[in-house]
Amino acid sequence: MVGKVGVGGTAPAAPVVVQSMTNTDTEDIFATAMQVAQLARAGSELVRITVNTREAAAAVPKIRERLVQMNVDVPLVGDFHFNGHKLLAEHPACAEALAKLRINPGNVGKGARRDEQFAQLIEIACRYDKPVRIGVNWGSLDQALLARVMDENATRAEPKDATEIMREAMVTSALESATQAESLGLPGDHIILSCKVSGVQDLIAIYRELAGRCDYPLHLGLTEAGMGSKGIVASTAALAVLLQEGIGDTIRVSLTPEPNGDRTREVIVAQEILQTMGLRAFTPLVAACPGCGRTTSTVFQELAQDIQDYVRERMPEWRLARVGVENMTLAVMGCVVNGPGESKHASIGISLPGTGEAPVAPVYVDGERVVTLRGDNIAAEFRQIVDDYVAKKYPARAGY
Ligand code: SF4
Repeated sequence: MVGKVGVGGTAPAAPVVVQSMTNTDTEDIFATAMQVAQLARAGSELVRITVNTREAAAAVPKIRERLVQMNVDVPLVGDFHFNGHKLLAEHPACAEALAKLRINPGNVGKGARRDEQFAQLIEIACRYDKPVRIGVNWGSLDQALLARVMDENATRAEPKDATEIMREAMVTSALESATQAESLGLPGDHIILSCKVSGVQDLIAIYRELAGRCDYPLHLGLTEAGMGSKGIVASTAALAVLLQEGIGDTIRVSLTPEPNGDRTREVIVAQEILQTMGLRAFTPLVAACPGCGRTTSTVFQELAQDIQDYVRERMPEWRLARVGVENMTLAVMGCVVNGPGESKHASIGISLPGTGEAPVAPVYVDGERVVTLRGDNIAAEFRQIVDDYVAKKYPARAGY
């Protein structure tokens, strides 16, 4: 079964939880359940889905049922804007099927109706005992609150600049909404806060402020991070600084997929951020040298790619069957300069021949040279060595 880790990471030493979000139409039960399952199998420990229409709200319990049929137990977070109070009131089974509600204080309602609709949402969360993420986003910041913060700023002897005011308004929106939710009866340990912006320095400053002013668990993520390397680099830069300071309980990397691209990429990037920082281990990572003028061909890049793909493919099964396999390390190196040394530091390492070297590839297991591969079948033989190592090194879990 694709299991659940938790919904918020509320305990002080709880691992930072990886979250993702679907981009399917939630009314499409089959497509949404399939994508949730893909994200969960890639390692997402919480999956958020949009709940924007009556049909989407009615679909949520059916998505949950379909996931149970697929043996996928990942918690679902419902994302509500504008009409969440109505949808949840009209579809109690939707509220029951969700593990957490995400509400955006800037999109709950306008004027006097804002407080009324916010209270309705919190009352439903209390009734069904669901945690709530109060998720502020600078693209939908509560305009009345922003105007108030700006007015207050205008009366200061030394007014803050526009950037500082935006940051202050976001933090104020999150904290005041949390206080309001608690006053309506939602327990403090059922509240998670987030304040998403698209600027790295803004995100760092806002979360430092939030972390200094409250004890609620915080969900981290750079909103609209972008496509490809830009989105990955920006998210990593922002999240790494905060995680290093102990800030953040759940994370999401909001990558824009390429057209028809793989949605699970955001899960893998989030895992890699946590794993490369030494905060959690998910999947054996492959260390590989960058290659240089001593590299004779693309063989070593192909082997590095092949073995990383192979490990990812096998990991869902290994994770269930073998204790500690995520801690395995692999190295694929391009020549004798750093190859043997790096390979000896890995659980399993292979040093391919560089220019002028004999066409052989020594393999090291736990620091010892165990075999030398040669010929055209190195990739398959290396995969077999990895399989044998997993079977021998990591104990089988009960029932496997
Ligand atoms: S290990 Fe060899 S091939 Fe790889 S970067 Fe270093 S010198 Fe170049």
